[in-house]
Amino acid sequence: MISDNQPNSVAADERVGKVFAVVSDDLRMCLICDQMFTRQGSFEHSKFPCHPASS
Ligand SMILES: [Zn+2]
Repeated sequence: MISDNQPNSVAADERVGKVFAVVSDDLRMCLICDQMFTRQGSFEHSKFPCHPASS
C-alpha cells in the first residue's frame, strides 16, 4: 500500500509578496526594485523575483 497522503493539488501558483505603489491609473512602482510598470507590467513583474537596486 502506497502512502496516499501527498496532496496532489499543489499548484505552482506562488504569490510573491511584492508591493507596488500606485503612481497613477496605469502606473505602478515596485517598492523592491523601484522600477515603474504598467498595470500589466506589474502583473508580469510580480511573477519573477526582483532585487533592490544597489548602487
Ligand atoms: Zn521589482
